[in-house]
Amino acid sequence: MAYVVDAAKCPQNHRCPLLAVCPVGAITQQGFSLPRIDASLCIECGKCARKCGMQAIYKDA
Ligand code: SF4
Repeated sequence: MAYVVDAAKCPQNHRCPLLAVCPVGAITQQGFSLPRIDASLCIECGKCARKCGMQAIYKDA
C-alpha cells in the first residue's frame, strides 16, 4: 500500500499546497510538475489525501 498522485486529476499548474501538509516531508515537487510521494518516508497518515482539493491523492492497493 502506498499513497500516490493521480496525474489525471492533479492540474500541475501550481505549487502543491500539500508539501506543507505532510508531517514527514515525503512529498516533493519540481516546479509545478506532478508531486511525488516518497514511500520510504510516508507514514500513511492520510493527511494529503484528505486535504487535496482535487482529490488527486489516493491509496494504491
Ligand atoms: S499520507 Fe501522510 S506521510 Fe504520507 S505523503 Fe501523505 S501526508 Fe505525507
